[in-house]
Amino acid sequence: MLTNWLAPLISDWPPSIQYVVFGGFLAVLIMIRYTLFTAIGFVVGIITNRLAPYRRLQKSPFTRAQVKREIAHSLVTVSVFTLVVGAIVLMTRAGWTKIYMDPGDFGLIWFWIQIPLVLLIQDWYFYWMHRISHKPGIYERVHKTHHLSTNPSAFAAFAFHPIEAFLEIAIFLVLVLILPLSVQALLIVGAVSLVFNVYGHLGFEIMPRALAKSPIGYWMNKSAFHNQHHRTYKYNFGLYTTIWDRVHGTLHPHAERLYDQATTTPVTSSIETTQGETV
Ligand SMILES: [Zn+2]
Ligand SMILES: [Zn+2]
Repeated sequence: MLTNWLAPLISDWPPSIQYVVFGGFLAVLIMIRYTLFTAIGFVVGIITNRLAPYRRLQKSPFTRAQVKREIAHSLVTVSVFTLVVGAIVLMTRAGWTKIYMDPGDFGLIWFWIQIPLVLLIQDWYFYWMHRISHKPGIYERVHKTHHLSTNPSAFAAFAFHPIEAFLEIAIFLVLVLILPLSVQALLIVGAVSLVFNVYGHLGFEIMPRALAKSPIGYWMNKSAFHNQHHRTYKYNFGLYTTIWDRVHGTLHPHAERLYDQATTTPVTSSIETTQGETV
């Protein structure tokens, strides 16, 4: 584990200082991860805009003020994630979790099964957390922070109210207590989660049509769908998949058509709608 080499270096220091150093180290790692993935996403957006401008999901450009706000809110989320990840590390050191370090400990079959399993559990959890967060009373107090951008950029991947940031990661506080999960698998899940969050807020639809039109692609969430969520508020609550949106009838009736429009034709007035309107 990344923190294993750090512990001996600071073991002689006062415990309070050790916690500060350890927390700072985690915060820097989480911050680097956010910066790297969102910056790559932003560059992918710029390249897509050059090569295939019709894949842009909304005509309005990202503004400097918007990006600043998205980054500022994301820094708060980085702090919340640091506290929760730090708590999980301390819980693991105390022997409270089922996290294990050697990927072979429970067999390689379980190692590779746990990754899609955790992603599917998180997908279900996120769908309901997200859908409930749109209820009046909760939306204004919590989820509205994320919806301040009606045309989000990649930097909005972590732009949450602190309570929502905690709820986003809280599922892992439970999973590590009940499932034997390897550190490496959790790191892969974390990377997939961030990649999907960046993809969902890219502002461009980059999923190849060959994948989108395959049986797997049918069930995958798409950037066009989440961008549509930021405009319509009512539909497309999913994270990785469209399973729960399809099961519960909350996939926008024109979601697939929006994907088709964004990947085959120049932007038309029908996908330049303002917030609240349907496509
Ligand atoms: Zn929402
Ligand atoms: Zn979003």
